[in-house]
Amino acid sequence: MSASLLAPPLLRGEGLPDFAATTPEQVRQQIPALLEVLNANLSELEQSLELTSTEQAAGELLSWDQVMDPLQRLGERLRWSWGLVSHLNGVCNSAELREAHQSQQGAVVAFGNRAGQSRTLYRALERLQQQHETGSLRLDATQERILTAELLEMQLRGVALEGEAQAAFNAASEELAELATRFGNHVLDATNGWTLALHTPEQVEGLPESLRQLLAQAAREASLSSAEGHEACAETGPWLLGLDMPRAMPFLKYSHRRDLREQLYKAQVSRASSGDLDNRPLIERILTLKGEQALRLGYATWAEVSLASKMAHSVDAVEGLLEDLRAAAFPAAQRELQALAACAGRQGAPEAAELRPWDVSFWAEVLRRESFDLHGEALRPWFPLPRVLDGLFALCGRLFGIRIEAADGEAPVWHADVRFFRVFDASSDQAIASFFLDPYSRPGSKRGGAWMDTCLDRGRDAAGRPVLPVAYLICNQSPPVGETPSLMTFEEVETLFHEFGHGLQHMLTTVERPQAAGINHVEWDAVELPSQFMENWCYDRSTLLGMARHWQTAEPLPEAEFAKLLAARTFMGGSATLRQVHFALVDLRLHSVWTPGSGLSPEDLRRQIAATTTVLAPIPEDAFLCAFGHIFAGGYSAGYYSYKWAEVLSADAFSAFEEVGLEDEPAVQSTGRRFRDTVLSLGGSRSPAEVFEAFRGRAPSPEALIRHSGLAAAA
Ligand SMILES: [Zn+2]
Repeated sequence: MSASLLAPPLLRGEGLPDFAATTPEQVRQQIPALLEVLNANLSELEQSLELTSTEQAAGELLSWDQVMDPLQRLGERLRWSWGLVSHLNGVCNSAELREAHQSQQGAVVAFGNRAGQSRTLYRALERLQQQHETGSLRLDATQERILTAELLEMQLRGVALEGEAQAAFNAASEELAELATRFGNHVLDATNGWTLALHTPEQVEGLPESLRQLLAQAAREASLSSAEGHEACAETGPWLLGLDMPRAMPFLKYSHRRDLREQLYKAQVSRASSGDLDNRPLIERILTLKGEQALRLGYATWAEVSLASKMAHSVDAVEGLLEDLRAAAFPAAQRELQALAACAGRQGAPEAAELRPWDVSFWAEVLRRESFDLHGEALRPWFPLPRVLDGLFALCGRLFGIRIEAADGEAPVWHADVRFFRVFDASSDQAIASFFLDPYSRPGSKRGGAWMDTCLDRGRDAAGRPVLPVAYLICNQSPPVGETPSLMTFEEVETLFHEFGHGLQHMLTTVERPQAAGINHVEWDAVELPSQFMENWCYDRSTLLGMARHWQTAEPLPEAEFAKLLAARTFMGGSATLRQVHFALVDLRLHSVWTPGSGLSPEDLRRQIAATTTVLAPIPEDAFLCAFGHIFAGGYSAGYYSYKWAEVLSADAFSAFEEVGLEDEPAVQSTGRRFRDTVLSLGGSRSPAEVFEAFRGRAPSPEALIRHSGLAAAA
């Protein structure tokens, strides 16, 4: 029996985790124990490297095994154990587990910082690099990528700085972290700080039943009762409106009361722009500090820092892409606005003469119903989960030559609903990977949304035996009820395909070095390529119609409904694209052009950009930057463009299939194999530009995305 089998479940460090045996108690006890060991191991590694640095003076060489392998093992031990805790925290949450997770998070982050900022490690990595450059160390292309990426990561943490510069860098990093938290808290407080009580049925005219229920529930939680003292209810009110997405978005879409829409809209766009919660001074401080950090790291702007580790290497490349999209989207968005005004005119609405921002969602919804009345809910019976899985697995079989088989009961699970599957290479019949699927929502114990996470990376275990990759695929759709299977909306089907795309890149990797296997070390602006690529197949006629069958009658999805799905995909596509371009360009220019001495406020700069990236100019109250949490409180600064960048890649990759003809089965299959052998197989072992070119035979082009977004026709 190997020693690892005797270890407590949370510290075993290899194999499939024993989910049920992992308790909050163990998290509290064993994570500190693990970190103690890892810190000691890190110190030993540093000491041995210090020693070799004196030997180096005597001409001794450093090897990959002396640095990179031990470093990888340290990271992997932490990833295995802490990954398990984080996973359980997402899928089997409880107050105890959440507390245990939180109690350890700081120490886990501190360990990561210690390793990431170790000067001894950095020097060792530099030495490997030098030996490689001078020809005394041979590295293959994958090793070279791993080494370059890890050196860069450490450099961007300021490890190469000395003395005062490093002290200033660290102080600024701390201040930035604190500013990000304050920024986010201001947005949250401002969002929660605004409510509007509605008392008459006339004030909720047009709202769907589900929204009335939500508003009445909010009223009950706020102890708001009717004039007669009745508890709030969906039918008679009162209803409490707020700025959170689930209440605000549908209200702007459905409310017949233009004055209330205006009030809500103005409150929403002016969040966190006044009083104690004013984010404007924070924005200037954050941008100033980031500009200074960039200079300390040897870059001209923060945008250059951000792009140093991304596929888009230069600000010009991003500007170029955004301009291509803008030029295609702007006239389309103008036409869409005219179509909305015409729709309002047909209904005799006074706003037809001049639509304002708070009219757009409302008339878009009216026009959508007028043009194609697609009810997402009504399509559910055509998408029972078992059929959708069959369709997805059959598609993966056709495209990538793999076979997916249910293997329930062959692996431990964390909940009775969780399923386990094995993936085989269809031609060799060899097992290549496996995955867990946790499809249903469990309010109260499972985080919302959908995601793919890695359970095991492809690599080798301590005894040198190959380890096959294992993925977690998590969705949040409605569970089966009695005899009725889980019936999915079309969006849920797209989400499943999306996450499965991430899973495929993790599972079909052929890279031997775990640091670059699967999604590891894939540049951030390229990581959504396989996931968004898979979404495209939901709009492929034979894939969709082959899969969508009524769960009771087995009747295929009516052709008319398929046509509506296609129309819905590009409906208001110009406006949607233009909006993303606006956000991305504002983000990029704030981090590349704006300086404290430029004589413009960040808001002024945003309004300049709005002249060519919005078809309805921002109203005076609009202080959108004050709530732009992605870039000021999240990790997206000078990276918001990544959404569109990755979409260019995924649309262009799908267009390779369109070019050979989606009905030409042999051609589709050989193109699919090429996708597997490049994008899915190479992962982070090559630059994304090289991987893309290996698949497509050329550099990416935005043509397919512009066409898929419905923007090409009139251009
Ligand atoms: Zn994704």
